[in-house]
Amino acid sequence: MKHTDLTGKKISILGLGKSGRALARVLTEKGASILVSDSQPDEKLNEAKEELSDLNIEWETGGHTARIYSGRDMVIISPGISIYHPVLQEAMDAGVHVISEVEMAFLLAQAPFIAITGTNGKSTTTTLIHETLLESGRNSYLAGNIGIPLVGEVGKIPEDGWIAAEISSFQLEAVEHFRPKIAALLNITSDHIDRHRSFQGYVDAKAHIFRVQDETDFAVLNADDEAVMSVADKIKSRILLFSVTKPVAEGAYCIDEGMIRYVFDGVEKDLFHWDESPLRGKHNLQNVLAVLCMCLAAGVDPANILPTLRKFKPLHYRMEYVDEIGGVKFYNDSKGTNPDAVRASLESFRPPLTLIAGGTDKNLDFGWLAGHIALRAAHVVLIGESRFKIEAALKEKNYENITVIDDMSLPGFKESIRTAFLKTPEGGVVLLSPSCASFDMFKRAEHRGEMFNVYVRELKEEYEKEV
Ligand code: ADP
Repeated sequence: MKHTDLTGKKISILGLGKSGRALARVLTEKGASILVSDSQPDEKLNEAKEELSDLNIEWETGGHTARIYSGRDMVIISPGISIYHPVLQEAMDAGVHVISEVEMAFLLAQAPFIAITGTNGKSTTTTLIHETLLESGRNSYLAGNIGIPLVGEVGKIPEDGWIAAEISSFQLEAVEHFRPKIAALLNITSDHIDRHRSFQGYVDAKAHIFRVQDETDFAVLNADDEAVMSVADKIKSRILLFSVTKPVAEGAYCIDEGMIRYVFDGVEKDLFHWDESPLRGKHNLQNVLAVLCMCLAAGVDPANILPTLRKFKPLHYRMEYVDEIGGVKFYNDSKGTNPDAVRASLESFRPPLTLIAGGTDKNLDFGWLAGHIALRAAHVVLIGESRFKIEAALKEKNYENITVIDDMSLPGFKESIRTAFLKTPEGGVVLLSPSCASFDMFKRAEHRGEMFNVYVRELKEEYEKEV
């Protein structure tokens, strides 16, 4: 039973990013009395202030104080705010309910959720299931971590539609009743250890996606991923597995990148050969198999995946092909922000390849990735805060083909692209796949991706003038 009567409730919203702003609007409309609180100083919040100027709400800027919980019924946190923030611990000690935007969105929604989480592949998979549902004539709405706040959308979605929701581990830190009809855990590899404190903390946060499910719901799990399978025992819903190495009892599999098969309700069937898909890389095969499982769970004909794949355009800054200069192809994988994403991207190319990597360090260990880079990259150009840490990890593997760019400004970034180009022979590839966050040099990963595309095109003009 959902409790959505918010009339007269006193609610604080922490963080005034997109989801915080959507929360302020939706909850005010529902009759709640709102305090918004952001750690940024007043003068940096002009955009939010303007956007919310028509709402009668209280403001706290420049930090979060006891005001956020004193006399309040509930605190809702944006994904950017950690549940370990001392003020939230105080709020919980004071008996105030602390939840995330996802939890509130769930309480307000009529339609069922297909919720997708994992270290990598969330956006690609969420978009694919959304488009496959539409292709099958179903009602589907895309929202979540993908840049469209859930809470702003869910109220508009009719009961017979699906909410295809990309969910980050941050959003799962503070959920209680959140119960997706279909929940998928794609993979778990090292990322965000700074925020979750340990790998186990990260695994535990991800597992929250299944916590309230029962046997009428579905869990989609990657059978090839040990950390994912470590949570399977506790899951009460019906499990569908996907694998790129072995047959599964129920779900979908594809061995040696050959025929894609599914097994469901006693039926086992060949669907199509992976060669027929325009997407590349084993990681994308895993994403497609996960989507296939979600189709089975949603009662949609899995044959609708192939036409969807044929129309699907790879999302921006995820292995996006940018351009070719003098026989060298440039790929933009700015969204490759952790070691396993970079490993997956590297494996999608044949050498000679020059990798541009580095950025804000999330306390990740680059030793494992350095081994993959040494195998696949002929040269590496390192940028950003983590450049020396990655350099040291590569040198540990006796890898020496490294250029370090010390200039952490935009011209320095352009320099890294030019250097990578000069190091790459005709027929080769320059790949930006940083394995790090972007905040040391850019506003966000999209900004880094956008600037990469701009600079590649400038480089092309300069090159064409010279030859
Ligand atoms: P997310 O939303 O989880 O960040 P994206 O679909 O945006 O995932 O992809 C982010 C990065 O992860 C890209 O570099 C992409 O090439 C890589 N990637 C996508 N799917 C997978 C996967 N299943 N396993 C490993 N890496 C992946």
